This record gives sequence, structure tokens and C-alpha cells, in this order.
Amino acid sequence: MTDTPTQLFIGGAWLDAADGATMPVDDPATGEILCHIADAGPKDARLAEAAAVQAQEEWARTAPRARSEILRRAYEIIIERTDELAHLMTAEMGKPLAEAGGEVAYAAEFFRWFSEEAVRVDGGAGILPDGRNRMLLSRRPVGPCLLITPWNFPLAMGTRKIGPAIAAGCTMVLKPAPQTPLSSLALAAILQEAGLPDGVLNVVTTSRAGEVCEPLLRGGGIRKLSFTGSTAVGRLLLAQSAEAVVRTSMELGGNAPFIVFEDADLDKAVDGAMLAKMRNMGEACTAANRFFVHHSVAEEFGRRLAERMGALVVGPGTRDGVDVGPLIDRTGRGKVEALVADAVERGARVLVGGRTPEGPGCFYPPTVLTDVSPESRLMDTEIFGPVAAILTFDDEDEVIRRANDTPWGLVGYVFTEGLDRALRVSERLEVGMVGLNTGLVSNPAAPFGGVKQSGLGREGGRVGIDEFLEYQYLAIPVR
Ligand code: NAP
Repeated sequence: MTDTPTQLFIGGAWLDAADGATMPVDDPATGEILCHIADAGPKDARLAEAAAVQAQEEWARTAPRARSEILRRAYEIIIERTDELAHLMTAEMGKPLAEAGGEVAYAAEFFRWFSEEAVRVDGGAGILPDGRNRMLLSRRPVGPCLLITPWNFPLAMGTRKIGPAIAAGCTMVLKPAPQTPLSSLALAAILQEAGLPDGVLNVVTTSRAGEVCEPLLRGGGIRKLSFTGSTAVGRLLLAQSAEAVVRTSMELGGNAPFIVFEDADLDKAVDGAMLAKMRNMGEACTAANRFFVHHSVAEEFGRRLAERMGALVVGPGTRDGVDVGPLIDRTGRGKVEALVADAVERGARVLVGGRTPEGPGCFYPPTVLTDVSPESRLMDTEIFGPVAAILTFDDEDEVIRRANDTPWGLVGYVFTEGLDRALRVSERLEVGMVGLNTGLVSNPAAPFGGVKQSGLGREGGRVGIDEFLEYQYLAIPVR
């Protein structure tokens, strides 16, 4: 903690906020303050924007290989410092150390992946249909970007945006979530050490997100917004981006269905459920939110899931043997408590958990609810906590209709041993990603993203860099 930067990172310099404001960063396992960091205002944001705008032209002209090597070096430094970064992440976010270490590896992988993609950006050339004119297509960085990230994956949500932006030749202003700014500041220091030129990445930590970001989106200097967070905030930022016609990528909320058919392998289904529900304490956009289980296997599935959930050890993420850390804050925990209370009032049975423990920290026990009413609020709200809500179904058409009956469409999980059914159901689900007999879809080499109100665009994979590139077409008549 002692070496972790706590200031703003602007134009390659570490600075206090212009008005000297600071804000606390809390440990969700104890409620204690870890440290104070700079709290940027609109003036600081303008400075960061100016640094990004000034650095853009020269940065766009750097050799793709040079950009690739910076990313590769940063990847190596992150891997070397896995333990240190994992401890930092656990301290500010709460996830158990083993999971934090897993996120460090996942986050680093975006830098390795995009170090490889930086040198593979292609264009095109051709003869136009008239046989006379030629065209030359090249791809250019879109320009200075505003990157806004959430608290649930403090490092990976940053590298998933910074990696392709660096590879494409874009400069950036990053605004991390106020709950988890330390991982982003540590990442900026690593990129500086890896040789990233001044002004290419600027980081503004703030408790005044709206005041800081809106002028940047309306000002004209920022050409691209890449946002990960809730659908409600995404909608607002889309409206703000309209004025200066800022290009947008939106990774928004989810409401994932987890479907277990009567021909599913229940061992796989329960393993998949543990992953899809309990990764990150359920605080993931990909978390299974609605479990639809065929009535013939629902009782056994519920019993086996409750056994596994009940065996998990809850406690501070730094303690050995802990599986489930605290939720991010009291507001997040209050929301989970209210959703469970509402489901129980409407007839749900609690198979395990469901009771908030006494004492400090924002802990909530792994919980399994069965006989959940379709009218329950958690059916159309992201639970964002360790609560599995089980409903039953009778046939395939019915479950597809119910799974699709939501404004979101990020991911769905399907468990069946029948290939025909697996493909048929996957194709009919209105989602950007499907986990087939698996509870984990995230992978830096795959395009991550949703349909409907879960977002616009994709991050990662071969297409991740496209979000940061524009085409330029040259018309060349040949006489
Ligand atoms: P959030 O409340 O939408 O906040 C996300 C980020 O937006 C934070 O940095 C937040 O800062 C900032 N923000 C809020 N209002 C803003 C405004 N008016 N102008 C500019 N920035 C603003 O979401 P969250 O609670 O941090 O994260 C959870 C949500 O993220 C869930 O819905 C989850 O599904 C989604 N998520 C999606 C993905 C994906 O890839 N699809 C991945 C991870 C998470 P402040 O907190 O200071 O307001």
C-alpha cells in the first residue's frame, strides 16, 4: 500500500487535485479507511483532456511495433507483480486473494492479446467497379478516448479498454470507479514504467463523476467514449455523447438466464452454477441471475447447489481458506437484502443463507432460493450478490420465451447433453454470449458484449481493436 500512487496522473505527472480535494478509499471487509486519494474536479478533467489531445497526433504516428512492445512489457510487469496487485485489489474491492490473483492474470492477458493485435491492423486496396478508379483503405485511431470503468473488476475492466486503445494509437482519459481507484493508479504507474509516453494515458479519480465527465463528452476534444457500468448510467452517457457525436462502446448490465434441461449432466450444471453465480461474489455482469430448471430435476439441482453454496467460507478476502469476501459496500448489500426479502414475501423458500451476519464489513452469505415467483423483483433486477434464485419450467419454448423476456441480453447459460437442443436454444437466446455446459464465458481472445440494453460493441477478441479505429478511404483515379 505504501508505494501505491494516490494522486491524479496527468501528462505523465502525478498531481494533487487543483482545489486540493481528497476522498477516502474504504476496505469493504472492515469498513475502515485504507487511504485518501486525489478527488478531481472539472478543472483537473480539462487538464487531462488537454494532455490527451496534445499527445494524440504524435502517438498516432508511432510504429505499431513500438506500441506493441509497450503493452508486452506492461504485461510482463503485471505478471511479475501479481501478488502485490492482488493484495491491492482485495484491500479496496474485497474479493478473496485467490480470485484477485485470477483477475490480475485475466487483466494482464488483455495487454498480451492486444500487443499481438497492434501489429495486425489491416487496411485494403481495390479497383472500383468502373475499372478506372482505385481505392486505398487505411485504418486510423479514432482519437482521444474517455474510458469509464466500474468497481467489480478493478484491473481487468481497465486493461480491456486501455489495451486496444494503446494498440490502435489512441490517447486516453481514464475515470475509474471511486470505490476501487488504487488498481487503476497502480496500472498507470506500470504503463509509465513500461515506456508509455506522457499524456497517452491520464487517470482522474473523482467522487464527482457527472461534473467531471459531462464537459469532456460535450467539449469536442474527446472523440470516443468506452463505458462499462450500469444500463441506467450508460443511457445517460449515450445522450450526453450525442451532442458532439462522440463514438461510443457500451458494456452494460445483464440479467443472465441459467437454463438446466432434464437431459443435463447435473454435475456439470452444479459446477457451472457455482462459477456463474459465485465468481466475484455474484458481483459480475455475467452472473447468473435467473435459474430456470426443468421441474423433473429442480429438487435435486436445488439441493446439490445449496449443499455446495452452504459449504463456502465467508470472510475477509485476505484470510486463508476464505471463498467469499464482502460485498462492495452497505448500499450493495442493502439491495441484495431487499431483493431476498421481497422474493421470500412472494413465497420463495430459503434453502441456505438469506441472513445478514452481525459485525463489521459488508458480508452476505451464499443463498439459494427456490419456488421463486416470476413476479419477484430480482427477476428484473441485477442481484449483484451471492443469491441463486430458482424457478421451474416445463418445456423448451416456454423457457426460451421466459429467458428472453427482459430488456437485457448479455449472456445466457444452457445445460443439456443434446447437441441439437444446445444449438437450437443457443441460437434462439437473445444474448451476445452463451455458455454451453459451462459457467464461464470471459476470455480476452473472445468478443465480449451484449445485445438489447446490455450494450453496444464488443471488447476483446479480434474485433476489440475495431472499437478504437476509423477507416479512411483514398480515391485514386488512374488515367
Ligand atoms: P455504475 O453505477 O453505472 O458506475 C460505473 C462507472 O460509471 C463508475 O465509474 C461511476 O462512477 C461512473 N458514473 C456514474 N454516473 C456517471 C455519470 N453521470 N457520468 C460519468 N460517469 C458516471 O455501475 P457500477 O455499480 O460501478 O458497476 C456495476 C454495473 O456495471 C452493473 O450493472 C454491471 O452489470 C455493469 N458491468 C458491466 C460489464 C460488461 O462488460 N457488460 C462489466 C462489469 C460491470 P461513480 O460511482 O462515481 O458514479
